[in-house]
Amino acid sequence: MQILILNCGSSSAKFAVMDPASGVELIAGLAQRLGSPQASLDWKWQGQKHTRALPGADHQPALRAVVALLHEVGLAAGINGVGHRVLHGGARFSDPALVTPAVIAGIEACIPLGPLHNPPNLLGIRIAQELFPGLPQVAVFDTAFHATMPPCAYLYAVPMEWAEQHQARRYGFHGTSHRFVAADALTRLGLTDQPSGIITVHLGNGCSCAAVRDGRSVDTTMGLTPLEGVVMGTRSGSVDPALIGYMAKRLELPADKIIDLLNKQSGLQGLSGLSNDMRTLIEHAGQGHARARLAIEVFCYVLAKTIAGLVVPLGRLDAVVFTGGIGENSVPVRAKVVELLGFLGLSLDVNLNAGHGRTAGGRITTGSGSCALVVPTNEELMIARDTAALVA
Ligand code: AMP
Repeated sequence: MQILILNCGSSSAKFAVMDPASGVELIAGLAQRLGSPQASLDWKWQGQKHTRALPGADHQPALRAVVALLHEVGLAAGINGVGHRVLHGGARFSDPALVTPAVIAGIEACIPLGPLHNPPNLLGIRIAQELFPGLPQVAVFDTAFHATMPPCAYLYAVPMEWAEQHQARRYGFHGTSHRFVAADALTRLGLTDQPSGIITVHLGNGCSCAAVRDGRSVDTTMGLTPLEGVVMGTRSGSVDPALIGYMAKRLELPADKIIDLLNKQSGLQGLSGLSNDMRTLIEHAGQGHARARLAIEVFCYVLAKTIAGLVVPLGRLDAVVFTGGIGENSVPVRAKVVELLGFLGLSLDVNLNAGHGRTAGGRITTGSGSCALVVPTNEELMIARDTAALVA
Protein backbone atom coordinates (compact mmCIF):
# COMPACT_ATOMS: atom_id res chain seq x y z
CA MET A 1 0.00 0.00 0.00
CA GLN A 2 1.14 3.57 -0.71
CA ILE A 3 -0.20 6.72 0.92
CA LEU A 4 0.13 10.34 -0.17
CA ILE A 5 0.56 12.61 2.85
CA LEU A 6 -0.37 16.28 2.47
CA ASN A 7 0.20 19.15 4.89
CA CYS A 8 -1.19 22.38 3.45
CA GLY A 9 -0.21 25.61 5.17
CA SER A 10 -1.14 29.18 4.28
CA SER A 11 1.64 29.58 1.71
CA SER A 12 3.07 26.08 1.40
CA ALA A 13 2.12 22.46 0.79
CA LYS A 14 4.32 19.66 2.07
CA PHE A 15 3.87 16.24 0.51
CA ALA A 16 5.28 12.72 0.70
CA VAL A 17 4.42 9.28 -0.58
CA MET A 18 5.10 6.50 1.91
CA ASP A 19 4.68 2.80 2.29
CA PRO A 20 3.07 2.66 5.76
CA ALA A 21 4.14 -0.92 6.38
CA SER A 22 7.86 -0.48 5.75
CA GLY A 23 8.01 3.24 6.58
CA VAL A 24 9.92 3.81 3.32
CA GLU A 25 9.47 7.33 1.95
CA LEU A 26 9.30 7.08 -1.85
CA ILE A 27 9.23 10.80 -2.60
CA ALA A 28 8.94 13.95 -0.47
CA GLY A 29 8.76 17.61 -1.27
CA LEU A 30 7.47 21.07 -0.60
CA ALA A 31 5.62 23.60 -2.71
CA GLN A 32 6.47 26.93 -1.11
CA ARG A 33 6.06 30.70 -1.35
CA LEU A 34 2.66 29.96 -2.89
CA GLY A 35 0.85 32.96 -4.37
CA SER A 36 4.15 34.80 -5.00
CA PRO A 37 6.29 35.17 -8.14
CA GLN A 38 8.91 33.00 -6.35
CA ALA A 39 6.60 30.02 -5.85
CA SER A 40 8.44 26.75 -6.40
CA LEU A 41 8.13 23.00 -6.07
CA ASP A 42 11.12 21.29 -4.46
CA TRP A 43 11.36 17.54 -4.04
CA LYS A 44 13.67 14.66 -3.28
CA TRP A 45 13.44 11.55 -5.40
CA GLN A 46 15.87 8.60 -5.34
CA GLY A 47 18.35 10.60 -3.27
CA GLN A 48 18.44 13.56 -5.68
CA LYS A 49 17.08 17.04 -4.98
CA HIS A 50 15.05 18.80 -7.69
CA THR A 51 13.30 22.12 -8.02
CA ARG A 52 10.77 23.57 -10.46
CA ALA A 53 9.59 27.20 -10.62
CA LEU A 54 5.83 27.72 -10.32
CA PRO A 55 5.64 31.52 -10.67
CA GLY A 56 2.43 32.92 -9.18
CA ALA A 57 1.02 29.48 -8.39
CA ASP A 58 -1.33 29.18 -5.43
CA HIS A 59 -2.51 25.91 -3.80
CA GLN A 60 -4.59 24.61 -6.72
CA PRO A 61 -1.90 24.76 -9.45
CA ALA A 62 0.78 23.73 -6.94
CA LEU A 63 -1.09 20.53 -6.01
CA ARG A 64 -1.75 19.93 -9.73
CA ALA A 65 2.03 20.16 -10.23
CA VAL A 66 2.54 17.63 -7.40
CA VAL A 67 0.11 15.21 -9.07
CA ALA A 68 1.82 15.73 -12.45
CA LEU A 69 5.14 14.98 -10.75
CA LEU A 70 3.74 11.79 -9.18
CA HIS A 71 2.63 10.72 -12.68
CA GLU A 72 6.09 11.52 -14.11
CA VAL A 73 7.88 9.36 -11.54
CA GLY A 74 5.32 6.57 -11.87
CA LEU A 75 3.87 6.78 -8.35
CA ALA A 76 0.41 8.27 -8.99
CA ALA A 77 -1.31 5.05 -10.01
CA GLY A 78 -0.15 3.16 -6.91
CA ILE A 79 -1.59 5.56 -4.32
CA ASN A 80 -4.34 4.00 -2.17
CA GLY A 81 -5.32 6.97 -0.02
CA VAL A 82 -4.47 10.54 0.95
CA GLY A 83 -3.71 11.48 4.56
CA HIS A 84 -4.06 15.16 5.52
CA ARG A 85 -2.52 16.84 8.52
CA VAL A 86 -5.21 19.04 10.10
CA LEU A 87 -4.27 21.38 12.93
CA HIS A 88 -7.42 21.76 14.99
CA GLY A 89 -10.04 19.12 15.62
CA GLY A 90 -11.47 20.90 18.69
CA ALA A 91 -13.37 18.58 21.04
CA ARG A 92 -15.03 16.82 18.06
CA PHE A 93 -12.19 14.69 16.77
CA SER A 94 -10.41 12.32 19.09
CA ASP A 95 -9.24 10.03 16.26
CA PRO A 96 -8.26 10.26 12.61
CA ALA A 97 -11.37 10.51 10.42
CA LEU A 98 -12.26 9.31 6.94
CA VAL A 99 -13.27 12.50 5.12
CA THR A 100 -17.03 12.80 4.57
CA PRO A 101 -19.20 15.91 4.19
CA ALA A 102 -19.86 15.71 7.96
CA VAL A 103 -16.11 15.62 8.71
CA ILE A 104 -15.53 18.61 6.42
CA ALA A 105 -18.29 20.47 8.26
CA GLY A 106 -16.62 19.52 11.57
CA ILE A 107 -13.24 20.89 10.41
CA GLU A 108 -15.01 24.06 9.23
CA ALA A 109 -16.64 24.41 12.64
CA CYS A 110 -13.14 24.37 14.20
CA ILE A 111 -11.93 27.32 12.07
CA PRO A 112 -12.45 29.84 14.91
CA LEU A 113 -10.07 27.69 17.00
CA GLY A 114 -7.44 27.36 14.24
CA PRO A 115 -8.05 30.38 12.00
CA LEU A 116 -4.61 30.32 10.35
CA HIS A 117 -4.30 26.59 9.73
CA ASN A 118 -7.71 24.95 9.33
CA PRO A 119 -8.66 26.93 6.16
CA PRO A 120 -5.54 25.90 4.17
CA ASN A 121 -5.86 22.35 5.60
CA LEU A 122 -9.44 22.23 4.26
CA LEU A 123 -8.38 23.69 0.94
CA GLY A 124 -5.85 20.85 0.60
CA ILE A 125 -8.59 18.29 1.28
CA ARG A 126 -10.92 19.85 -1.30
CA ILE A 127 -8.26 20.06 -4.01
CA ALA A 128 -7.11 16.48 -3.31
CA GLN A 129 -10.72 15.28 -3.61
CA GLU A 130 -10.86 16.91 -7.05
CA LEU A 131 -7.47 15.63 -8.18
CA PHE A 132 -7.95 12.08 -6.81
CA PRO A 133 -11.66 11.42 -7.28
CA GLY A 134 -12.58 8.10 -5.74
CA LEU A 135 -9.52 7.87 -3.48
CA PRO A 136 -10.27 7.84 0.25
CA GLN A 137 -9.05 10.91 2.12
CA VAL A 138 -8.25 10.86 5.83
CA ALA A 139 -7.89 13.81 8.23
CA VAL A 140 -5.32 13.35 11.02
CA PHE A 141 -5.64 15.98 13.74
CA ASP A 142 -2.79 17.57 15.69
CA THR A 143 -5.09 17.88 18.69
CA ALA A 144 -6.58 14.36 18.71
CA PHE A 145 -4.01 12.54 20.89
CA HIS A 146 -4.75 14.94 23.75
CA ALA A 147 -8.50 14.24 23.69
CA THR A 148 -7.89 11.85 26.62
CA MET A 149 -6.89 14.70 28.96
CA PRO A 150 -9.15 14.86 32.03
CA PRO A 151 -11.08 18.08 32.82
CA CYS A 152 -8.57 19.08 35.51
CA ALA A 153 -5.91 19.23 32.77
CA TYR A 154 -7.93 20.85 29.99
CA LEU A 155 -9.97 23.44 31.91
CA TYR A 156 -8.73 26.98 32.43
CA ALA A 157 -9.85 28.47 35.76
CA VAL A 158 -12.07 31.05 34.06
CA PRO A 159 -15.88 31.46 34.01
CA MET A 160 -17.21 28.01 33.09
CA GLU A 161 -19.38 29.49 30.32
CA TRP A 162 -16.19 30.29 28.39
CA ALA A 163 -15.57 26.56 28.00
CA GLU A 164 -19.22 25.54 27.72
CA GLN A 165 -20.36 28.17 25.25
CA HIS A 166 -17.15 29.24 23.49
CA GLN A 167 -14.99 26.07 23.49
CA ALA A 168 -12.32 28.08 25.37
CA ARG A 169 -10.24 25.30 26.93
CA ARG A 170 -6.89 23.60 26.47
CA TYR A 171 -6.56 21.23 23.48
CA GLY A 172 -2.82 20.66 22.97
CA PHE A 173 -0.97 20.16 19.67
CA HIS A 174 1.88 18.13 18.14
CA GLY A 175 -0.35 15.13 18.97
CA THR A 176 0.79 13.07 16.00
CA SER A 177 4.42 13.45 17.05
CA HIS A 178 3.75 12.79 20.76
CA ARG A 179 1.72 9.68 19.86
CA PHE A 180 4.38 8.31 17.51
CA VAL A 181 7.25 8.94 19.89
CA ALA A 182 5.38 7.67 22.96
CA ALA A 183 4.48 4.40 21.23
CA ASP A 184 8.05 3.95 19.99
CA ALA A 185 9.52 4.72 23.44
CA LEU A 186 7.16 2.28 25.19
CA THR A 187 8.18 -0.45 22.72
CA ARG A 188 11.87 0.30 23.31
CA LEU A 189 11.34 0.16 27.09
CA GLY A 190 9.24 -3.03 26.93
CA LEU A 191 6.35 -1.19 28.61
CA THR A 192 3.62 -1.45 25.96
CA ASP A 193 1.31 -3.60 28.11
CA GLN A 194 2.48 -2.33 31.50
CA PRO A 195 1.50 0.61 33.65
CA SER A 196 3.80 3.41 32.51
CA GLY A 197 4.48 7.12 32.82
CA ILE A 198 6.54 8.95 30.24
CA ILE A 199 6.99 12.58 29.26
CA THR A 200 7.45 13.24 25.56
CA VAL A 201 9.34 16.45 24.79
CA HIS A 202 8.93 17.69 21.21
CA LEU A 203 11.50 20.43 20.57
CA GLY A 204 11.36 21.85 17.04
CA ASN A 205 10.54 25.38 15.96
CA GLY A 206 7.40 24.83 18.02
CA CYS A 207 7.95 23.06 21.33
CA SER A 208 5.59 21.11 23.58
CA CYS A 209 5.64 18.35 26.18
CA ALA A 210 3.04 15.68 26.94
CA ALA A 211 2.47 13.53 30.00
CA VAL A 212 1.61 10.06 28.68
CA ARG A 213 0.16 7.60 31.20
CA ASP A 214 -0.31 4.00 30.00
CA GLY A 215 0.07 5.24 26.41
CA ARG A 216 -2.56 7.99 26.66
CA SER A 217 -2.03 11.74 26.88
CA VAL A 218 -3.16 13.02 30.29
CA ASP A 219 -1.69 16.52 30.08
CA THR A 220 0.25 18.70 27.68
CA THR A 221 1.80 22.15 27.61
CA MET A 222 0.10 23.80 24.61
CA GLY A 223 -3.43 25.03 25.20
CA LEU A 224 -6.22 26.71 23.25
CA THR A 225 -3.53 27.62 20.72
CA PRO A 226 0.08 26.52 20.20
CA LEU A 227 1.27 29.68 21.99
CA GLU A 228 0.94 28.27 25.53
CA GLY A 229 3.63 26.29 27.31
CA VAL A 230 7.41 26.20 27.07
CA VAL A 231 9.72 28.66 25.27
CA MET A 232 9.84 28.10 21.48
CA GLY A 233 11.72 29.46 18.43
CA THR A 234 9.63 32.62 18.03
CA ARG A 235 6.76 31.93 20.51
CA SER A 236 6.95 33.12 24.10
CA GLY A 237 5.19 30.13 25.64
CA SER A 238 3.17 30.91 28.80
CA VAL A 239 3.18 34.49 30.05
CA ASP A 240 1.03 36.41 32.52
CA PRO A 241 -2.10 37.17 30.43
CA ALA A 242 -2.07 40.68 31.88
CA LEU A 243 1.16 41.24 29.91
CA ILE A 244 -0.95 41.59 26.76
CA GLY A 245 -3.03 44.52 28.05
CA TYR A 246 0.02 46.11 29.68
CA MET A 247 2.15 46.03 26.52
CA ALA A 248 -0.81 47.06 24.33
CA LYS A 249 -0.99 50.26 26.38
CA ARG A 250 2.78 50.80 26.51
CA LEU A 251 3.28 50.27 22.77
CA GLU A 252 -0.08 51.78 21.79
CA LEU A 253 -0.92 48.73 19.77
CA PRO A 254 -4.08 46.59 19.67
CA ALA A 255 -4.08 43.36 21.70
CA ASP A 256 -4.07 41.28 18.48
CA LYS A 257 -0.77 42.85 17.49
CA ILE A 258 0.78 42.03 20.88
CA ILE A 259 -0.36 38.41 20.50
CA ASP A 260 1.23 38.44 17.05
CA LEU A 261 4.50 39.62 18.64
CA LEU A 262 4.24 36.85 21.25
CA ASN A 263 3.87 34.36 18.38
CA LYS A 264 6.42 35.72 15.93
CA GLN A 265 9.02 37.90 17.70
CA SER A 266 9.42 36.22 21.08
CA GLY A 267 10.89 32.96 22.36
CA LEU A 268 14.53 32.29 21.45
CA GLN A 269 14.34 35.02 18.81
CA GLY A 270 13.08 37.68 21.20
CA LEU A 271 15.45 36.79 24.04
CA SER A 272 18.57 36.50 21.89
CA GLY A 273 17.79 39.28 19.40
CA LEU A 274 19.78 37.04 17.06
CA SER A 275 17.89 34.00 15.80
CA ASN A 276 15.05 31.57 16.44
CA ASP A 277 17.34 28.73 15.39
CA MET A 278 18.91 26.73 18.22
CA ARG A 279 21.90 25.68 16.11
CA THR A 280 22.80 29.32 15.42
CA LEU A 281 22.35 30.24 19.09
CA ILE A 282 24.56 27.41 20.33
CA GLU A 283 27.26 28.44 17.86
CA HIS A 284 27.14 32.11 18.94
CA ALA A 285 26.85 31.25 22.64
CA GLY A 286 30.09 29.30 22.23
CA GLN A 287 31.71 32.46 20.87
CA GLY A 288 30.57 34.46 23.92
CA HIS A 289 27.28 36.00 22.67
CA ALA A 290 25.67 36.81 26.04
CA ARG A 291 22.05 37.00 24.89
CA ALA A 292 22.32 33.76 22.90
CA ARG A 293 23.55 32.13 26.11
CA LEU A 294 20.74 33.67 28.13
CA ALA A 295 18.12 32.55 25.60
CA ILE A 296 19.36 28.94 25.81
CA GLU A 297 19.45 29.14 29.61
CA VAL A 298 15.83 30.36 29.83
CA PHE A 299 14.74 27.73 27.26
CA CYS A 300 16.30 24.87 29.28
CA TYR A 301 15.16 26.21 32.67
CA VAL A 302 11.50 26.60 31.65
CA LEU A 303 11.60 23.22 29.96
CA ALA A 304 13.00 21.39 33.00
CA LYS A 305 10.55 23.13 35.36
CA THR A 306 7.67 22.15 33.07
CA ILE A 307 8.80 18.53 32.70
CA ALA A 308 9.03 18.20 36.48
CA GLY A 309 5.45 19.52 36.77
CA LEU A 310 4.23 16.89 34.32
CA VAL A 311 5.34 14.13 36.67
CA VAL A 312 2.28 15.03 38.82
CA PRO A 313 -0.37 13.64 36.42
CA LEU A 314 1.79 10.53 35.89
CA GLY A 315 2.51 9.73 39.52
CA ARG A 316 5.67 7.96 38.34
CA LEU A 317 8.40 8.57 35.77
CA ASP A 318 9.73 5.86 33.50
CA ALA A 319 11.26 8.12 30.86
CA VAL A 320 11.70 11.62 29.49
CA VAL A 321 11.74 11.26 25.70
CA PHE A 322 13.38 13.95 23.53
CA THR A 323 12.37 14.45 19.90
CA GLY A 324 12.12 17.12 17.15
CA GLY A 325 15.01 19.02 15.52
CA ILE A 326 16.43 20.27 18.85
CA GLY A 327 15.49 17.21 20.92
CA GLU A 328 17.04 14.79 18.44
CA ASN A 329 20.19 16.79 17.69
CA SER A 330 21.17 19.18 20.43
CA VAL A 331 23.63 17.56 22.83
CA PRO A 332 24.00 20.64 25.11
CA VAL A 333 20.24 21.30 25.44
CA ARG A 334 19.55 17.69 26.47
CA ALA A 335 22.55 17.75 28.82
CA LYS A 336 21.33 20.90 30.58
CA VAL A 337 17.72 19.72 30.91
CA VAL A 338 18.73 16.30 32.23
CA GLU A 339 21.14 17.96 34.67
CA LEU A 340 18.33 20.20 36.00
CA LEU A 341 16.14 17.09 36.40
CA GLY A 342 18.80 15.16 38.34
CA PHE A 343 16.62 15.19 41.48
CA LEU A 344 14.18 12.90 39.66
CA GLY A 345 16.92 10.29 39.45
CA LEU A 346 18.10 11.09 35.91
CA SER A 347 21.85 10.87 35.45
CA LEU A 348 23.32 11.77 32.05
CA ASP A 349 25.76 9.45 30.26
CA VAL A 350 27.91 12.01 28.45
CA ASN A 351 29.07 9.58 25.75
CA LEU A 352 25.60 8.20 25.03
CA ASN A 353 24.24 11.76 24.84
CA ALA A 354 27.03 12.77 22.45
CA GLY A 355 25.93 9.91 20.17
CA HIS A 356 22.23 10.87 20.49
CA GLY A 357 21.61 7.53 22.22
CA ARG A 358 21.92 5.68 18.91
CA THR A 359 24.12 2.92 20.32
CA ALA A 360 21.81 2.27 23.29
CA GLY A 361 18.29 2.13 21.86
CA GLY A 362 17.92 5.88 22.42
CA ARG A 363 19.04 5.87 26.07
CA ILE A 364 21.26 8.79 27.16
CA THR A 365 21.25 8.22 30.93
CA THR A 366 22.87 5.68 33.24
CA GLY A 367 21.26 3.49 35.90
CA SER A 368 18.14 1.35 35.98
CA GLY A 369 15.54 3.86 37.30
CA SER A 370 13.94 6.71 35.36
CA CYS A 371 15.78 7.34 32.11
CA ALA A 372 16.01 9.85 29.27
CA LEU A 373 15.72 8.71 25.66
CA VAL A 374 16.16 10.26 22.23
CA VAL A 375 13.50 8.98 19.81
CA PRO A 376 13.28 10.48 16.28
CA THR A 377 9.76 11.55 15.43
CA ASN A 378 8.05 10.67 12.14
CA GLU A 379 4.72 12.47 11.81
CA GLU A 380 4.41 11.56 8.12
CA LEU A 381 4.68 7.86 8.90
CA MET A 382 2.08 8.18 11.66
CA ILE A 383 -0.31 9.92 9.22
CA ALA A 384 0.41 7.24 6.58
CA ARG A 385 -0.35 4.48 9.11
CA ASP A 386 -3.55 6.17 10.31
CA THR A 387 -4.68 6.65 6.71
CA ALA A 388 -3.84 3.07 5.77
CA ALA A 389 -5.81 1.76 8.76
CA LEU A 390 -8.94 3.66 7.74
CA VAL A 391 -8.53 2.93 4.01
CA ALA A 392 -8.19 -0.79 4.74
P1 AMP B 1 12.19 21.12 13.52
O1 AMP B 1 11.07 22.16 13.58
O2 AMP B 1 11.81 19.84 14.20
O3 AMP B 1 12.75 20.92 12.14
O4 AMP B 1 13.39 21.72 14.40
C1 AMP B 1 14.00 22.94 14.09
C2 AMP B 1 14.95 23.30 15.21
O5 AMP B 1 15.90 22.23 15.40
C3 AMP B 1 15.76 24.56 14.94
O6 AMP B 1 15.83 25.35 16.12
C4 AMP B 1 17.15 24.01 14.63
O7 AMP B 1 18.18 24.89 14.95
C5 AMP B 1 17.17 22.81 15.56
N1 AMP B 1 18.26 21.89 15.20
C6 AMP B 1 18.38 21.11 14.12
N2 AMP B 1 19.58 20.47 14.12
C7 AMP B 1 20.21 20.89 15.24
C8 AMP B 1 21.48 20.60 15.83
N3 AMP B 1 22.35 19.77 15.25
N4 AMP B 1 21.79 21.19 17.02
C9 AMP B 1 20.92 22.04 17.61
N5 AMP B 1 19.73 22.35 17.11
C10 AMP B 1 19.38 21.78 15.94
